[in-house]
Amino acid sequence: ATPTAVMVATGKGASLGVLIKGGNALEKAHKVKAIVFDKTGTLTVGKPEVVNVMLFSSVSMEDFCDVAIAAEANSQHPIAKAFLEHARKLRQKIESNRQSNNQHVTEAKDFEVHPGTGVSGKVGDKMVLVGNKRLMQTYNVTVGPEIEGYISEHEQQARTCVLVSIDGKIAGAFAVTDPVKPEAKNVILYLLSMGISSIMVTGDNWATATAIAKEVGIEKVIAEMDPIGKADRIKDLQMRGLTVAMVGDGINDSPALVAADVGMAIGAGTDVAIEAADIVLIKSNLEDVVTAIDLSRKTISRIW
Ligand code: ADP
Ligand code: MG
Repeated sequence: ATPTAVMVATGKGASLGVLIKGGNALEKAHKVKAIVFDKTGTLTVGKPEVVNVMLFSSVSMEDFCDVAIAAEANSQHPIAKAFLEHARKLRQKIESNRQSNNQHVTEAKDFEVHPGTGVSGKVGDKMVLVGNKRLMQTYNVTVGPEIEGYISEHEQQARTCVLVSIDGKIAGAFAVTDPVKPEAKNVILYLLSMGISSIMVTGDNWATATAIAKEVGIEKVIAEMDPIGKADRIKDLQMRGLTVAMVGDGINDSPALVAADVGMAIGAGTDVAIEAADIVLIKSNLEDVVTAIDLSRKTISRIW
């Protein structure tokens, strides 16, 4: 495409809320044959809500909330935000029932983010983990049959379960729902009519991922991927000769956004993802994946 055609398309994109960072992405997007979608915050609304909290030890609900709030306090993950909101309300309720005003909530020390699995930190003298089963396995925390039962019950309903361990023992868990974006299913269908296949690659577990994929009409699912795994799956597709786009919103998506021929970041996503991407979908609407490819097709065929 000529520099003028690129300029015209970039301007047109900007007016539509599709921010194209360079000519290169625009040159490649029309060739895209496969699009890899992240799940949380990309195919789903990304505003999860806590629907259940369960204790698996003798810890009180109050202490459980305090500890988990402290551990998640500095996390940017949508699950953390959902939990903080829910747990703070829950805690206020406990407080007002007791008419006391103990504020034990602090922030964790040695806070660490484990992309794709959860967070860890020290709350007082307690070592706290908040995240999925894989995080627990990394730290050799046993997940017993009762907890396994809780997890599978919720995962079958497309919910994600988060485990909380205190000093190496599971203290409790919570389940979150995150509805799919209303336009997701139609976009996947429309892409198929354009000759483009969609694949979901997520850090979340297989059961939840499969349930969500079914809701949006995606047949190919790869779950339980860490950030490098996501990027590797992009490379697998490229090795098969396909031009691949990646759509994601999280820190955990940035290696994949860089690896893809065309990286598209959800506008409401994290700064890291937005920086890693070639194209930013300002409105966070999946229909703009089609808009971006359309802009590229028109630029290359010089419709303008
Ligand atoms: P996705 O690839 O679907 O966007 P992520 O890679 O961000 O998902 O996260 C994968 C999983 O890791 C989540 O479903 C959750 O179980 C766990 N996880 C990640 N960060 C956190 C956190 N801050 N608190 C609790 N769980 C987390
Ligand atoms: Mg995400």
